[in-house]
Amino acid sequence: MTQHAVIVGAGLAGSLLACHLARAGWKVDVYEGRPDPRNAGFIGGRSINLALSTRGIDALNQVGLAERVLKDAVAMPGRMLHDKEGRQTFQPYSGKQNNFINSVSRGGLNITLLKAADDYDSVTLHFERSCTGIDLKQGIATVCDLKNQTSTTPECDLLIGADGAFSKVRESMATQAGFSHSISYIDHGYKELTIPAAADGSHVLDPEALHIWPHGESMMIALANQDGSFTCTLFWPWNGPISFNAIKRSEDVQPLFEAHFKDVVPLMPDLVELYMKNPTSSLQTIRCGPWHFGDKVVLIGDSAHAIVPFFGQGMNAAFEDCTVLTRHLSASDSVAQAIAGFYAEQKPNAEAIADLALSNFIEMRDTVRSPIFNVKKKIERFLTQISRGRYKSLYEMVSFTTIPYAKVCQRARRRQRILLAALFTLTAVLIICGLLAIGSTF
Ligand code: FAD
Repeated sequence: MTQHAVIVGAGLAGSLLACHLARAGWKVDVYEGRPDPRNAGFIGGRSINLALSTRGIDALNQVGLAERVLKDAVAMPGRMLHDKEGRQTFQPYSGKQNNFINSVSRGGLNITLLKAADDYDSVTLHFERSCTGIDLKQGIATVCDLKNQTSTTPECDLLIGADGAFSKVRESMATQAGFSHSISYIDHGYKELTIPAAADGSHVLDPEALHIWPHGESMMIALANQDGSFTCTLFWPWNGPISFNAIKRSEDVQPLFEAHFKDVVPLMPDLVELYMKNPTSSLQTIRCGPWHFGDKVVLIGDSAHAIVPFFGQGMNAAFEDCTVLTRHLSASDSVAQAIAGFYAEQKPNAEAIADLALSNFIEMRDTVRSPIFNVKKKIERFLTQISRGRYKSLYEMVSFTTIPYAKVCQRARRRQRILLAALFTLTAVLIICGLLAIGSTF
């Protein structure tokens, strides 16, 4: 008998999961609170463009969508660092030439995924239908039709919360004994700004790089869009001399930018207007568990494990969930076994990437500027080249492989231990040789 899944949320994870499940023979109903972006235009709210890397591409590939998505992407083989004087330095991400991350439009990607899901006869998309509550024991969502305010309770064999960081499904699971749940905010928030295209439609900065202005506590990044513009994300602390709260009036914007991002000011003619108009949002890490309840409710993507964006992996991890959950559903004897197996496999990976994303903030805003970091990166690229790709840096393992995040961390720790032991041995040998030389002199 065909099994029936209800997915709450037709964002990035929900719409891709619908494709995976349809391919695996499921009937799928997807309920999304927002209007259909294919008609209404994409209502953003969060990051206009995103970095898509190997894990995400792999999950898209499994439902035949990678090529369609990548044709609209801008390849970024490295980061371009901007110092306070406006000097630019390029740092490749990898020693392998064909390793790059991809800047994709969130709205465009979501629409592509929705169109692909809609192409399956077994998928039905319902827009302006908001999940207002869950009967966890029955595994049934209450869905409100926002146009006429009527509610329905669609039956299913599997109920999936793909409803993002502020998940209603997770909220109802949090009322149950045995569910652990934490949301931790960092001291920085973010705001998006735009560098428009030149008059001829070209990019005013090199599009094939992720641009970073790494100024310690204050950092900005920019990713190219296909239309010649760049979306910039400003990461500032909430409080302090350079902070969101330091700007009280529109007159404060320009001087602070002139002091810290001098080279971008001439490229942003609407800087003050955009700064004052665009929202400022917080950044959080959500850890919870178990992600499943009873024998048919499960969380995926940000609803289970929202992370800070400094490794560009939130969506990639959410896409990987789609592959792993579908694999478990296909291989297990029951839905209950599958969702428990999915959680057991992915929870350590979610914890690992949450920690890596937090520590990468320090790397992006501070460490990248240090000459020692630069030398370390050059050595890593050299090792990648001479080992013909067998040696992979931490960044490469995260962004250019599908090695589970938890294994990536284990490998990085083991390598660190070997390196320390080698340094210790070398130092000891040098000291002994020195002592022997002194001894033979006397
Ligand atoms: P979402 O994309 O948030 O989708 C959730 C959907 O559920 C939405 O459509 C919402 O309308 C719907 N919904 C919510 N509540 C209900 C309800 N009650 N009923 C019905 N529908 C509901 N990741 C990367 O991989 N690379 C990046 O470069 C990157 N950059 C980022 C930059 C920033 C500033 C931020 C904040 C995040 C970034 N991310 C990045 C992370 C990425 O945005 C998320 O991990 C990804 O969107 C998660 O997808 P999702 O489907 O789980 O959640």
